[in-house]
Amino acid sequence: MRLVFLGPPGAGKGTIAERIHAVLSIPHISTGDLFRKAIHDETYLGKQVKEILDSGHLVPDELTTEMVKERLAEKDAEKGFILDGYPRTLPQADALNKFGHPERVVNFMIPEEIIITRLSGRRVCRKCHATYNIKTSPPGADGICDVCGGELYMREDDAPEKITKRLHVYADLTQPLIEYYRKSGLLMDFDTNRPVDILVPELATILKNDLG
Ligand SMILES: [Zn+2]
Repeated sequence: MRLVFLGPPGAGKGTIAERIHAVLSIPHISTGDLFRKAIHDETYLGKQVKEILDSGHLVPDELTTEMVKERLAEKDAEKGFILDGYPRTLPQADALNKFGHPERVVNFMIPEEIIITRLSGRRVCRKCHATYNIKTSPPGADGICDVCGGELYMREDDAPEKITKRLHVYADLTQPLIEYYRKSGLLMDFDTNRPVDILVPELATILKNDLG
């Protein structure tokens, strides 16, 4: 089963991928994880990625594609994969068609106000950087870290107006991709505004019936 997961930050894409890949017996391949691992292992591509990211630039399509292509050539991806964070652009989607044509592209959909509520609840400890969510995983005492007693604060990026901006940047970037996959008949809209415990088995069943 060759799958691509698309969705804005806060839509639960990573969480669902992390849980569903075991059910479907295919690896969850996230470009974020690939970059971090290559940098950590100081591979040839990893060194290039580090240099680009350190200089504040985006990793170019060709380099990202090269890393994904290498990863898909590994044994565990023979029976399929879940791609998370790739493709992000039309050139990447064209490239992917040549080495791992997706069978289904799942478009994780959730209302913007729900994402804002979720992400704006995040609080971080100033001392030990432990993270909490005042809605879903609050600390024992308001504003105080359970681990070290440090003060909790909201990161600038998690302010509602910053989240809105991030969501709009994401939408502008991926809209052409969504249209591309919709036209090719591969896109499947999936409403993620429900508990993960319900979403994971539901999506697994749909995909198995559809592609299995
Ligand atoms: Zn702390």
